[in-house]
Amino acid sequence: MKSHLATKASCIRCGAAVEDAEHVLRRCPGSVWVRGQLGRLLPWISASAPFRHWLFGHLQNRDNTLFCAMAWNLWKWRNSFVFEQVPWQPGDVMRRIHLDTVEFHRLAQGTQRSNPIASDGINSVMLYTDGSWNPQVNRMGSGGVLLDEIGCWICGFAASLGGGDALKSELLAMKKGLTHVWEMGIKSVTCYTDCLEAQQIITNNQDVDTYWHKDEIIAIRALLNKEWRVFVNYVPRERNQVADALAKLAVNENWDWKLWSQPQPTVISLLCQDVLS
Ligand SMILES: [Zn+2]
Repeated sequence: MKSHLATKASCIRCGAAVEDAEHVLRRCPGSVWVRGQLGRLLPWISASAPFRHWLFGHLQNRDNTLFCAMAWNLWKWRNSFVFEQVPWQPGDVMRRIHLDTVEFHRLAQGTQRSNPIASDGINSVMLYTDGSWNPQVNRMGSGGVLLDEIGCWICGFAASLGGGDALKSELLAMKKGLTHVWEMGIKSVTCYTDCLEAQQIITNNQDVDTYWHKDEIIAIRALLNKEWRVFVNYVPRERNQVADALAKLAVNENWDWKLWSQPQPTVISLLCQDVLS
């Protein structure tokens, strides 16, 4: 209002009488919802702390990229109500927070893209996969997420599978993920798994004729030998949270194959967690 950015002092989103910076970032119900989605990733500062204390406490945190991405997009969300005919939806805000977290984190770390464009100019995508096995219900689930070379969402997948074991679920997640990436026509991918045993057995030339899971191993090795560039790397479990969540979800569902073209808000907080880990 003071800056002539809006015609009323009240909040256009919730109708509160005064829309100041504290209201936009901290009190408006939409902002409370977004903070609730990301809450466990942000340092705890009492909700009753004075606004300046709360704001500077977050900004002075050593890794404040998520908070900055959140605050920036809460402000832009508010502006979308004032200036745009179709204001953003809460899911749009979460997706934008993830994209900015990826970018801010990269800038703050002073690092290059996590999966740089190769010298031949082909962009390399990142496939994170995970399997889950629940012996109590005798079911496996496979999950995965495909990100572009800078870490932005391309798609997520999950598949519910029958009886098996933990290693088989990991192998099937890699097989399903790599098959999907190949069918998308992508020519360069780095596949990440948090199962060191699966990573090692796939990437060495060991004879697997006597292995229980030789069919899955041979199928994945055949995928690796297609005409594309594919690497299979190990990633610590704490940086594979999205694939883990989707695999666990698949154990409890009955999905032959489920694909998400956009991440759900609950998945976005895990994406941010993978970025910040
Ligand atoms: Zn409001």
